[in-house]
Amino acid sequence: MPTEFEFIENIRRRSRHSSVKTGIGDDCAVISKDAETDLVITTDLLVEDVDFRLDWTRPEWLGHKALAVSLSDVAAMGATPKWAMLSVGVPEKIWNNGFVAGFYDGWFELAEKFGVALVGGDVSRTPDKIVIDSIVAGEAKKDKAVLRSGARPGDSIFVTGSLGGAAGGLKLLENGDRLKRFAKAPTSKEKLLLRQLRPNPQTEIGKIIGAKSLATAMIDLSDGLSSDLAHLCAESRVGARLFADKLPVDDNLKKFLMPKSAKLNSANSLSAELDFALNGGEDFELLFTADKKKISALKNALKSFDFRLIGEVTETVDRIELILANETRILPPKGFSHF
Ligand code: ADP
Ligand code: MG
Repeated sequence: MPTEFEFIENIRRRSRHSSVKTGIGDDCAVISKDAETDLVITTDLLVEDVDFRLDWTRPEWLGHKALAVSLSDVAAMGATPKWAMLSVGVPEKIWNNGFVAGFYDGWFELAEKFGVALVGGDVSRTPDKIVIDSIVAGEAKKDKAVLRSGARPGDSIFVTGSLGGAAGGLKLLENGDRLKRFAKAPTSKEKLLLRQLRPNPQTEIGKIIGAKSLATAMIDLSDGLSSDLAHLCAESRVGARLFADKLPVDDNLKKFLMPKSAKLNSANSLSAELDFALNGGEDFELLFTADKKKISALKNALKSFDFRLIGEVTETVDRIELILANETRILPPKGFSHF
């Protein structure tokens, strides 16, 4: 049986079409709209007990997350989100218990924040589990959508925000911690849980990077840094070097990780925090590459946002190095995969 990524590659080979600028293989497809504008479009499927657990979250947070994951893909194109379609399949008992109303409340709250209009969807009944399909479309200036494929050797690699928090939240949930309400001043533990349950897309940063052509390539961090950087490098036919001491590990993580037991992957000897930051999924930060000449323009344009330089693009195709204090390691992609 193929892996998830082999499966997508197989479909991709059958999908070439002349009207499509960028099809399968990026965070969104890019389609020519008119003389000034390109359309970007993305879809995400969320399946109960695979992508979320009902007893871990609230309907409003799930609605928020269903939109946030797609907004994150639009942000990764440097585009502005505009329209959405949302389809839900739910079992009858869920239909009757008020879940759907709360789910849409959370969805609309986030949609209104970014001016996204719901323009359609579908509803069906499932025998047992909830299934959600989220589609978001947006616009980029003609030929300005930021693809995964534009990184060049010598470019610097940047990441927004912090890493590993969402995976930390997932670990807490797996260990039995729960979050009942959205606190105004959350504790560290609540912050980690919220990063997992109610992630925020980097829509503003994405729009600025796109509008000012500040990045050569961009992807959002959904599977995990090691995997998503590997996707970006594969599409750009380049390699990368990451500086471990520059990675913005989530501050809240350190307080809740046991040195050994909490590791995502005990086969390596990285610290638990570093392991979460490199291989933990769903942070929904933006990872992007930029020409060194653009660094001061980037700092200026993003001065009110949190982002930092974490590495550089190299010529060695698909080789990703992790520079630690005393050694250099090859970093294998160990982020999330469904199959
Ligand atoms: P992301 O994490 O950014 O949402 P995915 O890893 O889900 O991206 O998908 C990577 C690429 O493969 C995207 O361009 C997506 O549209 C495409 N893709 C994923 N699954 C399928 C599928 N079943 N059919 C066609 N394209 C797919
Ligand atoms: Mg993505």
